[in-house]
Amino acid sequence: MFLHISLEKLAKYQRKLSNKVKGSNGYNKQKLKVSKLHEKITNQRNDFLHKQSRFLVNNYDVISAETLDLEAMLQNKYFSKKIIDISYNKFLTYLKYKCEAEGKLFHQVNKYYASSKICSNCGTKKKTLPLSQRVYSCECGNVIDRDLNAALNICIEGIKTFYTKEDRITSIAW
Ligand SMILES: [Zn+2]
Repeated sequence: MFLHISLEKLAKYQRKLSNKVKGSNGYNKQKLKVSKLHEKITNQRNDFLHKQSRFLVNNYDVISAETLDLEAMLQNKYFSKKIIDISYNKFLTYLKYKCEAEGKLFHQVNKYYASSKICSNCGTKKKTLPLSQRVYSCECGNVIDRDLNAALNICIEGIKTFYTKEDRITSIAW
């Protein structure tokens, strides 16, 4: 929420800056304001990512994440701002090193893993699934929110890796 407020403020500051004469005192002052706010936003973002990743690593033994094709997503207007705002890759980096430090498993499915197209109940894979289709429904009877279905698939992949690589049985907090 704070980040949202700062971003609005930044847009306002930048508008003000564009109205000033380049090189003038007013311009330089406004420019300094913009760069200070930029720094604040970066800190707020990092703070948020650190807190969220800390919470997850403290509470779960296996963390499995998607690999987003950011370049392709940035071509898509619908995604760009959302993705930039959450700084996905930075978040994964934080998760990964916190997991390593705590002896927990961090797993990331590869870019080509079709988490959205696979049925989390029976494993059948759809050939296509348009983005507009928000509910996944399968012939096996599984009808589920699209994102939840993808998350379950990613989770299953993480658990599989945990048991095959680590060869150990331990309690897993879901
Ligand atoms: Zn199915």
